[in-house]
Amino acid sequence: MSTATRSSGLFVDGGWRPAAGRIPVLDKYSGEVVAEIAAATEPDVKDAIAGAHAASSRPLEPAERARVLETVAGLLDARAGEFVADYVAETGFTTADARNELRRAASIYRLSAQEALRIAGEQVPLSATPGSENRLAFTVRVPVGVVVAIAPFNAPLSTVAHKIGPAIAAGNAVVLKPAEKTPLSALNVVQAFADAGLPPGFLQLVCASGSAIGSALLDDDRVRFYTFTGSTAVGRVISAGAGLARTHLELGSNSVSIVAADARLDDVVRLVATAGFRKAGQVCTSVQRILVDESRFDDLTTALAERVKALTAGDPRAEGTDLGPLIAESEAARAEEWVSRSAARLRVGGERNGSVLTPALLADPAPESEVLSKEIFAPVVSVVPVRDFDEAIARVNEGRYGLQAGVFTQDLDRAFHAARELRVGGVMINDTSSYHADAMPYGGVKDSGHGVEGPRYAVEDMTDPRIVVLNLH
Ligand code: NAD
Repeated sequence: MSTATRSSGLFVDGGWRPAAGRIPVLDKYSGEVVAEIAAATEPDVKDAIAGAHAASSRPLEPAERARVLETVAGLLDARAGEFVADYVAETGFTTADARNELRRAASIYRLSAQEALRIAGEQVPLSATPGSENRLAFTVRVPVGVVVAIAPFNAPLSTVAHKIGPAIAAGNAVVLKPAEKTPLSALNVVQAFADAGLPPGFLQLVCASGSAIGSALLDDDRVRFYTFTGSTAVGRVISAGAGLARTHLELGSNSVSIVAADARLDDVVRLVATAGFRKAGQVCTSVQRILVDESRFDDLTTALAERVKALTAGDPRAEGTDLGPLIAESEAARAEEWVSRSAARLRVGGERNGSVLTPALLADPAPESEVLSKEIFAPVVSVVPVRDFDEAIARVNEGRYGLQAGVFTQDLDRAFHAARELRVGGVMINDTSSYHADAMPYGGVKDSGHGVEGPRYAVEDMTDPRIVVLNLH
């Protein structure tokens, strides 16, 4: 299915369906329309949920789930050219970002395939309980049923893989709603599942805006699990609408990396140059704030400024481009505004040309400025001096978000202290907040959400333990 011939964003019960409404998909760098896909309506969503509900009553065997997931991973590898071209067009991310995310997605489907083969309950030692001596008990893990997966624009392959990989591995049926700005990657993935032989009903695709079909997705008791990645504001809507269904909410952040007095600055500079700016900073764990011991503030700012000046922003397809445009010109204009209002002591970059913002480094912005207090989701890194390590930890903990934090120190005591004290979902020692291996448990606390992704953990959450008790006479 090439971009030119693509016509539907609606895959229900094993077939692509036409629909009246259209969603234009723009190339985020050139602004050209690269595809027009048919948009789902509320009745389409109800059909998709009904089909998924019917499929979920006859779950696939684990070996079949694993076979499909392995085949999908192979198809992603084999179709890399098409996947990368669509991804770069719809996101504006560089070709290197596209290849990296595609490789990760294939690996997430492979990890999910392995987990499908490991699902098992456990013996429950009921006979140790007085009055139950004659009981033999064990759990079996059963699929929850229908899973709705809602994905953001900024990782259209890996966030989708982290949702549908474990959901299928667990034996569920999935209704996928990708972001309307970046639906093409999801279309390609759904086609790969169809080509891999996933029986009709187990993966349904509904493309449309949240305002068009959000209520239809949320207001339905047949859905037993919502796995959502996106902004904290929409996360609250999902949470309020999910009723008794379980949720995974992977939400926003203004992620921090702490640099202690004894940190190796070369490592900080090298890692931040990528972790603050890849995908033009549109990554939930992107380094937005660096809290540095005041004794190292000048050295770090000088070294980082040199590094940031050397980054190239522009055409995502051109050799040597480090970061492309933001997802929309309005987002670039917002970030530019925040930078200009930040009252930073020193500023590198932050100039806008259309939707491209040059990578920006801000030294010591005003404490209440938006660049520190809100999620910027743009290539803007702020360096803030702190008195000591304890002040840095307190600053992280007083914020509303709690996704991941990086900590640079050579002192083991300090590292463990931070690991114990920081109220976040993950602490990365001698790395940035942006470190993420797909097998690890990953999720936030506070306004960054709840629930843990990573195939092993998500498969566990997407199954229910059913206890079986035998009364042995
Ligand atoms: P968004 O919240 O605007 O949209 C996310 C998805 O929700 C989209 O598919 C959108 O169409 C849908 N949606 C919107 N309103 C809805 C409604 N009422 N009902 C149902 N669905 C609705 O987020 P975005 O701009 O696409 O992505 C950026 C955000 O995602 C950032 O805040 C970023 O931090 C967050 N994010 C978090 C993680 C994480 O792992 N914690 C990862 C990636 C992105």
